[in-house]
Amino acid sequence: MYRPPSLRENASGIPTGFVYLVGAGPGDPDLLTVKAMRLLSEAEVIVYDRLVSDAVLSLANPQARMIPVGKKPKCHPVPQQDINKILIEQAWTGRTTVRLKGGDPFIFGRGSEEALALRSAGIRCEVVPGITAAQGCAASLGIPLTHRGLATGVRFITGHCRQDQPLEFDWDGLADKQTTLVVYMGAANIAEISKRLVEAGLPVSTPVLAVNNGTTPRERRVVSDLDTMPSATARANFEGPVLFIIGDVVSLYANRDVCPIVNQVIALASADPMATVHA
Ligand code: SAH
Repeated sequence: MYRPPSLRENASGIPTGFVYLVGAGPGDPDLLTVKAMRLLSEAEVIVYDRLVSDAVLSLANPQARMIPVGKKPKCHPVPQQDINKILIEQAWTGRTTVRLKGGDPFIFGRGSEEALALRSAGIRCEVVPGITAAQGCAASLGIPLTHRGLATGVRFITGHCRQDQPLEFDWDGLADKQTTLVVYMGAANIAEISKRLVEAGLPVSTPVLAVNNGTTPRERRVVSDLDTMPSATARANFEGPVLFIIGDVVSLYANRDVCPIVNQVIALASADPMATVHA
């Protein structure tokens, strides 16, 4: 019979701690992995973030102890050190403990810091990957993050530095026309990010898509370019998480209710014979 590792005991009969660091995806519960679903329904303790959607939380074991430790920008109700402590304490009770984090736990989620803290407390953990916001939002918009002839690669960056310190990036390296840039946590700094990318050589006409509450019923999008994105974002008055996708792949954006990317790919195909492979 399957026995959760948290209930295993060491030679002295003391339960050995175990925590599952689980990715909850960007919001749509259908984007959870099968493993995440199973662990949610079996968990006895769930320590969760603000970005985990209500729809995902509603799948949790109704008997589980739910511990919210949500953080908002500039407002950290439970400091990271205390979150680590909660995880360690819960693991040592021997209960099946799930640390549920938005998107993927190891992409800008501080999941790796939690894993290190657990490890140094002698607690084992397993990471269950989740669909990161970039993938979930791009799929929801029907745009690819790479596309032959438009982007040979993709980069995920944070638009916010520790303790609001200035953004110290390699702007020349980031301003690569062949690379799609996805900016997490960038809403407060989008004006500076756009300006620095243009100064480093990206055309002002580079398309940008801002997605708010992606993959949820409250999803909103703004399509613009590097020049006008800061004012367009300010006008949109977004509430909740915002992700920016910067690069020529955004030109493939089509209203998903009409027909995701297909029209555009066909249009490209006439200009680029290789592109017919994609269509
Ligand atoms: N670990 C998460 C990212 C945490 S950082 C992941 O892999 O997705 C938090 C940032 O993620 C937000 O500021 C926002 O930029 C982005 N984000 C997360 N969920 C989002 C969503 N549903 N819609 C848009 N952006 C989202």
